[in-house]
Amino acid sequence: MSTERLDYDDAYTVRFDGRVAAAGQHKGRPAVELERTYFYPESGGQEADRGRLGEAPVVDVQVDESERVWHVLDPSAPPLGPGAAVSAQVDWPRRFDHMQQHTGQHILSAAFERVLSAPTLSSRLGEERNTIDLGLAAIDWRAVERVEEAANGVVWEDRPVERHWTDPANVHKFALRKPPQVLGRIRIVEIPDWDLSACGGTHTRRTGEVGVIKIIRWETVRGNLRLEFLCGGRALRDHAWRTEALTEAARRRTLKDRELIAHLEKAAAERDEMRRRLDALVERALIAEARERVGAPPRGVADYAAERARDEVRRFALKCLEAGAPWVVVGAGAPEPVIVAGRAKSGSGDLKSLLPGLLERARGKGGGSPDLIQVAAGDAAAAESAWTWARDEVAARCGG
Ligand SMILES: [Zn+2]
Repeated sequence: MSTERLDYDDAYTVRFDGRVAAAGQHKGRPAVELERTYFYPESGGQEADRGRLGEAPVVDVQVDESERVWHVLDPSAPPLGPGAAVSAQVDWPRRFDHMQQHTGQHILSAAFERVLSAPTLSSRLGEERNTIDLGLAAIDWRAVERVEEAANGVVWEDRPVERHWTDPANVHKFALRKPPQVLGRIRIVEIPDWDLSACGGTHTRRTGEVGVIKIIRWETVRGNLRLEFLCGGRALRDHAWRTEALTEAARRRTLKDRELIAHLEKAAAERDEMRRRLDALVERALIAEARERVGAPPRGVADYAAERARDEVRRFALKCLEAGAPWVVVGAGAPEPVIVAGRAKSGSGDLKSLLPGLLERARGKGGGSPDLIQVAAGDAAAAESAWTWARDEVAARCGG
């Protein structure tokens, strides 16, 4: 026997006297079935209600394959047995939030169909995020604006949200946006002259209670567009932090809000240009430094810096070899402790044979080729002692 679902015809009653019909478990959690219930179980892409049965917190509501509604109770609450009378309370702020999101989704899906001829393929109403997947390849902010204007127009006209019950034999009498997915009794939710959908969720009585509908982003998922949207109180809270973030960001740069994107683009372009110029300067400095250290006739170069970027350590080693050094051992203690050792390609000796000794002293990891090796050390002290050892070994092998 399925549970009598009072929420189908009345989404606004959230306090009621209930009687426990059965006590059991739902997926290992204590749960009770009531003779009749206003609690909404998770289904059709809408989250379950929360609330209380007497003193026991209802932490989830699920419907099983026999359409029995199980109110999952907090395991620490005293158990409720069959026949027990309970005063039941649905968490209204959460329920109303879901009603706003769900009614808003009907209005928005119909707006996409009317404005952009884009059908809704699926929808999900989460605790934080709502999304709809549209049969549409692309969209832009101007098209989003047109859809939002149409949808919010219907909200502000405060149209009634009506319910009709029908069955599979008569469902063809309703011009539904999507074919129904249930057998047996079918509930139709109608927003007059706007939308007709088969739906078992909870909705507001009138469209005005949705407040506002706002699309906040979209992405392409398997060739279709997935849009994220918010309604009512959620839209207001989202608007609040976005406004604060945008206004603060602009204020800190003494800009107008609308100038912020152009400013960010300009700052990024300037940073890229500075990086390019800095790189060219570092290249020139490294070449000059390498030439000076190698000298004439060319000598081996041993150099350890307390602080030098890892990439610069390696580049300096290569510049020394290019300047004719027979060998080079360069290291740095920070920001990343590192040792690079190399020899002239025309020289002899396999530097890779030094790796085991170097890795052990550096307490790090690395690798390389017979003429160039690089090791990342565990810390600065290990880098310095490994560097000292490598310098003596390489100088002895490669001479000069
Ligand atoms: Zn619905």
